[in-house]
Amino acid sequence: VHDPGRRGRGRRVGVMGGTFDPVHHGHLVAASEVGARFDLDEVVFVPTGQPWQKSDAEVSPAEDRYLMTVIATASNPRFSVSRVDIDRRGPTYTADTLGDLHRAYPEDELFFITGADALEQILSWHRVDELFELAHFVGVTRPGYRLADHHLPRGSVTLVEVPAMSISSTGCRDRVAAGLPVWYLVPDGVVQYISKRGLYRRGAATARPGP
Ligand code: ATP
Ligand code: MG
Repeated sequence: VHDPGRRGRGRRVGVMGGTFDPVHHGHLVAASEVGARFDLDEVVFVPTGQPWQKSDAEVSPAEDRYLMTVIATASNPRFSVSRVDIDRRGPTYTADTLGDLHRAYPEDELFFITGADALEQILSWHRVDELFELAHFVGVTRPGYRLADHHLPRGSVTLVEVPAMSISSTGCRDRVAAGLPVWYLVPDGVVQYISKRGLYRRGAATARPGP
């Protein structure tokens, strides 16, 4: 069957990197929206290892962030979660993430999905051409956002406006610390996981090991 939208034999795979501390409905809506607009076969969520820019102490353990992401994505047959970043030592760099996934899915076309804020930082990297060889970049934005001019190669970056942009992990953590509900901001299973593990409570040590 002739399929003009597709190049080669590989699948189209979205890559959604993030701290996911916690994963929330903004992430899930963004992945779903980009998946539909770009006709993706799968979106792989990739929780970061020790996140760049955020200091270690402020971020929940990688296994908690990984498990919340698994819980949040389990019901969607097109969503999956990768451990490539949490199993690699040191801070996470987009080039490493994409390199590892390219090796894992050599036939497939990768679409790196990221918020426009993070995209601006990635595009300021001095070896950005390497990234464009590994993936097409999709910046999810609130309506009306415009990307600063980075002299990007034609067609290397696409912006997609998504609803639910005002949900943030910071907002969710602050709400839990203040004793406010996060029901409907994050999936039900994630609400229950946060409660079970005592994450984000005021004064709670975030680097606490599991049982
Ligand atoms: P924090 O508040 O700690 O910065 P966050 O909500 O931005 O967390 P991240 O894990 O940092 O969550 O985000 C992962 C990716 O998802 C980033 O590229 C980010 O820009 C994007 N993103 C975050 N929130 C939303 C949202 N509401 N809608 C769409 N994309 C989002
Ligand atoms: Mg953020």
